[in-house]
Amino acid sequence: MKRLNLRSVILIVFLINTLLIGFLTVQGADQRVRITLDGFPSSAPRTIQALSKDGILYISAEEFAGLFSYTTFSNDKNKKMIVRAGIRNIKLSPLNPFVMVDDRTYQMALETRLDGDMISIPLAVFLDAVGDQLPDQLVFDQKRRSLSKRHNPNNISAIAIEEKANGTLIRLSTTKDFTEGDVAHFIRREYLYVTLLNGKLDSTQLASEFQTGLIRKIVPFQLENAAQISFMLDRKVHDEKVFVQPGEVLISLRTENEFDADAIQARLDVNKKRWLIDRIIIDPGHGGRDPGAPSPYSKLVEKEVNLDIAQRLKKLIKANLKDVEVLMTRETDKFVPVKDRTKFANAHDGKLFISIHCNANPSKSLRGVSTYILGTRRTEEALAVAEAENSVIELEESSEAYKEMEDAAHILNAIAQSSYLKESEALAQIVNDSISKKANVPNKGVFQAGLYVLMGAAMPRILVETAFISNKYEETLLRRRDFRQKVAEAVFESVKAFKEKSEKGI
Ligand SMILES: [Zn+2]
Repeated sequence: MKRLNLRSVILIVFLINTLLIGFLTVQGADQRVRITLDGFPSSAPRTIQALSKDGILYISAEEFAGLFSYTTFSNDKNKKMIVRAGIRNIKLSPLNPFVMVDDRTYQMALETRLDGDMISIPLAVFLDAVGDQLPDQLVFDQKRRSLSKRHNPNNISAIAIEEKANGTLIRLSTTKDFTEGDVAHFIRREYLYVTLLNGKLDSTQLASEFQTGLIRKIVPFQLENAAQISFMLDRKVHDEKVFVQPGEVLISLRTENEFDADAIQARLDVNKKRWLIDRIIIDPGHGGRDPGAPSPYSKLVEKEVNLDIAQRLKKLIKANLKDVEVLMTRETDKFVPVKDRTKFANAHDGKLFISIHCNANPSKSLRGVSTYILGTRRTEEALAVAEAENSVIELEESSEAYKEMEDAAHILNAIAQSSYLKESEALAQIVNDSISKKANVPNKGVFQAGLYVLMGAAMPRILVETAFISNKYEETLLRRRDFRQKVAEAVFESVKAFKEKSEKGI
């Protein structure tokens, strides 16, 4: 018999080990277990079913929502789900560690699962990531398999400070909708005092001593009928502004010197030029490997229609508005990441941003034209559209970059948006009415949604969903050249009217 040499022995030992390790790590089949519930109303069940895998407990998102009577909204097509917990919209995606709460993204240490048609959440890490955002305070003991609910008396859940070029943004996350009248603020010596009427906070949790932006220290204090938060400032602040939006109170502190006459004049001149609508960015939605919504009836795909309408619109503007330059985010059938589209618009100092799309819905009877602007006043249908249009980022290499964008967009939304919201809404209204009339499609109206493609563009910006590619009749319209031309003409006429109106004052 041939003797084994040392190298063969090592190889055999290595192979056995690999097999063993492989065998041991395959393990981890799901185990059904029950989690006991504590602190829920007596009408609620005493336990809830969970799946245990490698010691991690997962429960169905639907059942979780049911425990609190939170309403849910799910998209059959992509299996995403929105849970409406109090004033928050929590968006879950299958096999994904990212959870969106309103417009912000949180990362869990583990991914969600997809069991059959349902998303399951890894309960412990889910609560670690977004537990603060829920109206109820939940304590989950994974070892003892118990979930206790306590009423969360606090409605100010977090304070975040963000540094900006000319100041600092303070962001208070709230689980109650405050109004502007509830918020009082003033600066005295080196402190900014913010008081929220009927605000409730946990001062031990929110207190902090760190240096970010202008803020050196945060001192929260619970008063009888209000919460007061004092921010120690390290520089002189020239003005402070408060913005209130659902689930959030924002305070912007500016350090720029406002009283320099030359600077004011220079800014006025720039502003004058700013409002001239002399450069329009047209954004044909989707392209390349992202076809957009496909037709259920023919080979037609959304990206083709969008590009064709955009090109027609460009031609009309160029031929009729001599002082306007038109730029397109894509001229051909190519893939352009969503964030590059707004980057392009800003880099070229666009004055209007018009994104052209077609709508699609599992409910094939839906028809009509709708126009979207960036905002938080949401409806179920607007959420569905945002979800569909935003899903393109999954085709991009670095979808995580959108977290940063959402943060940036949030600030923009709160501050810059206050000047563009009105314009965007006005433009959206004219465009939508005009398409409906000229191209003879039902007018669904103007909606607000958190659309990535509109985030970050510092100019009035709209997204037009011209007609439904999922509706049999409108799909035939979208295939027709005369219909596309009518849509392009309607948008052109609206742009012209909007331009005339907004330049009148300059
Ligand atoms: Zn689209």
